[in-house]
Amino acid sequence: MRFVTYRDRDGKTFPGTIEGSAIRRIATPTLLDYIALAPHERIAWHTGDALVPLESVTLVAPVRPARNVFCVGRNYLEHAREGARAAGRELKLPEVPTFFTKATTAIADPDATLTFSAALSSEYDFEAELSVVIGARCRDVGEADAHAFVFGYTALNDVTARDLQRAHLQWFKGKSLDQSCPLGPWIVTPDELGDPQRLDVRFRLNGVEKQHGNTAQMIFSIARIVAELSRGMTLLPGDVIATGTPEGVGFARTPPEFLRDGDLMEVEIARIGTLRNTIAIA
Ligand code: MG
Repeated sequence: MRFVTYRDRDGKTFPGTIEGSAIRRIATPTLLDYIALAPHERIAWHTGDALVPLESVTLVAPVRPARNVFCVGRNYLEHAREGARAAGRELKLPEVPTFFTKATTAIADPDATLTFSAALSSEYDFEAELSVVIGARCRDVGEADAHAFVFGYTALNDVTARDLQRAHLQWFKGKSLDQSCPLGPWIVTPDELGDPQRLDVRFRLNGVEKQHGNTAQMIFSIARIVAELSRGMTLLPGDVIATGTPEGVGFARTPPEFLRDGDLMEVEIARIGTLRNTIAIA
């Protein structure tokens, strides 16, 4: 199944599921409320309402988690290598995932124009990522059980102000600017997605491919990420975990290619779809 949150012509937002080229509304106020239900309680909230044509609504970020978006840095070998090369450091692979977060206020909608300040940063960059949406409260999850706690998967662009990321040492500030976390366009459930470790991840800038990796190349698998993050730390339904980006990001290219006003960004993940956003830098 594919879960969305949509805005209708009256400006009201609703959760729903996609059926062909239409949406069937879910009666909970938000998709986060729906995800927080026990799986056997969820079905009662699927409405028999008339289908809403997809073309008549605007899709927004499918879920707004209750707290920061969790992210894994340097989770693809070639991206870790290009990052070390660009920084003039020796490549040293982490033994555990590098976790950081993005503020919830950074979340942006599919197809939205993302507006950033030229005065704040001159190094806006892109990172195409598969993200995981947690489906149930959990803690100390074993790797073998991790997939049972996944509600679904969606695409995410970890937009980063590289100069701020470096200047503040902790990555949080450079990763949390408003609108720097577009998410969507929908959440695909595990049964429809298949193996999450066999998905092509691509990024196109103005139609030109800049990143192309496969989730098989992750240093830490999704199961390992969920296991490590949940050790001694409760995960909540609706939590979003961005699983890292493949090689080809702007700052590590020769010469570096940072985002410019008017650029079209596309994150394409196999079996999910394409998350598109335009950049405005003023
Ligand atoms: Mg990232």
